Amino acid sequence: MHNFSTASHAKVVSFKPTGESLDLENRDRIEARLRYANDLGLGPFYLNRSSTQTRYTGSAAQAPNAANASRPSEERNANALSIAASAPVSVAASPNRSGSAVSAATKPAPASTSFMPAPSGLSLFDERIEGDSLGLIREAIGDNCTRCKLHKGRTKLVFGVGNPKAELVFVGEGPGRDEDLQGEPFVGRAGKLLTQMIEAMSLRREDVYICNVVKCRPPENRLPEKDEIITCSPFLMRQLAVIQPKVICCLGSCSAQTLLQTTQGISRFRGEWFDFRGSKLIATYHPAYLLRNPNAKGEVWKDLQKVMAVLGLQPKRK
Ligand code: URA
Repeated sequence: MHNFSTASHAKVVSFKPTGESLDLENRDRIEARLRYANDLGLGPFYLNRSSTQTRYTGSAAQAPNAANASRPSEERNANALSIAASAPVSVAASPNRSGSAVSAATKPAPASTSFMPAPSGLSLFDERIEGDSLGLIREAIGDNCTRCKLHKGRTKLVFGVGNPKAELVFVGEGPGRDEDLQGEPFVGRAGKLLTQMIEAMSLRREDVYICNVVKCRPPENRLPEKDEIITCSPFLMRQLAVIQPKVICCLGSCSAQTLLQTTQGISRFRGEWFDFRGSKLIATYHPAYLLRNPNAKGEVWKDLQKVMAVLGLQPKRK
């Protein structure tokens, strides 16, 4: 990982949330969430909460630890949740997990409007569930979850692994073949690379927490579909709410788009800091992408160095 490289420059800008009106798609999503809340027995949740999503840009003085982004390569499919109420965003043709090209191109939107914050009151898990724990979340999912179609191809559900008090959480998309067989996230080739990345940060795998947006393997390693994300991501939200990490590092578009609720391609915002319900969130390229595009390792190392700066870590000596 020490072929990862170079310095970062802090940059912080304020991000002004826009777009509060509810279009039909949003209404469907809210209905789905309401149904889901009922399924989980959570009761009423539609409160008037304000958005917590903040994009930092500008100067380091304004926001310590926030840092600049360069913007090359990876743009992934906008399959993740979008509650962008007004602004379609540009999504370039992009590789999926197995490397084939997927979709593209809507009208570009100005950066200031293309990040939609979670609209007020829509977010089911903004508020912590009293007494929640990783054990309770695992129990709530159950051993034979059939909430979405991914259960059909599942061998083992992959809940998450690591330190329940981790300061750093990595969030991937969903289990691949090895993970499905072993019931543990990031244990295949991409996982080995992630482990190297973690160790390059002078951490051990067991120091951090690793999980995914969806807990069951999408067939042929395709990206998780919207309905699957809507069904499963509340469990991720609960995991994050319980762990309350200092930093969430999204690996690839799916998790970044899901947590930031945007359809924007990851290369538009990777390496930038966001606020996610009190945690700092940064997105970087997925290790599987790095396996196909080793030249992007330098960009990822810059992102990881930003994380290390926030966590007060020194890179591991060779
Ligand atoms: N890719 C992911 O996104 N998650 C895993 O657990 C493994 C590969």
